[in-house]
Amino acid sequence: MINVTKEQKGEVLVVRLSGSIEESVNFDQLIGPPPPDLHVNCKEVSRINSAGVKAWIKYFQAAAAKGTKLRFLECSTAIVEQINLISNFVVTGEVESIYVPFSCTSCKAELIALFKTVDLKANGLTAPELKCTKCSGNAVFDDIEEEYFGFLSR
Ligand SMILES: [Zn+2]
Repeated sequence: MINVTKEQKGEVLVVRLSGSIEESVNFDQLIGPPPPDLHVNCKEVSRINSAGVKAWIKYFQAAAAKGTKLRFLECSTAIVEQINLISNFVVTGEVESIYVPFSCTSCKAELIALFKTVDLKANGLTAPELKCTKCSGNAVFDDIEEEYFGFLSR
């Protein structure tokens, strides 16, 4: 089940998606007719299955075709995976920021940290080291950089 909250900020409609995106999703109903400026916050999207992906692409493609300016913010790791797998997943939209998985080299905790895509590009598509939030040890990027950041170089 997906939950959507909407907030109008000046010209921009900000929608926050949370939960899991599946066949039952109806973006036309949840978001409504696409506005001129749409920002989609994906922080709380835990998973998306193939039917969810189809519904997602259908809605956002139609929106882009109507001239909606799309921006995707705080993309969860589940969303980043789809962006990398499916070349038109964000259609013409801009991906502003993504969550990046880390693991601590001392206590093995799994962490996520938010980065702006411009900063990742400036950093040569590598993730900087982080301090573990649990033990203050060194946390390192926990995926394959060429794959996780792949969409930023295409
Ligand atoms: Zn730690």
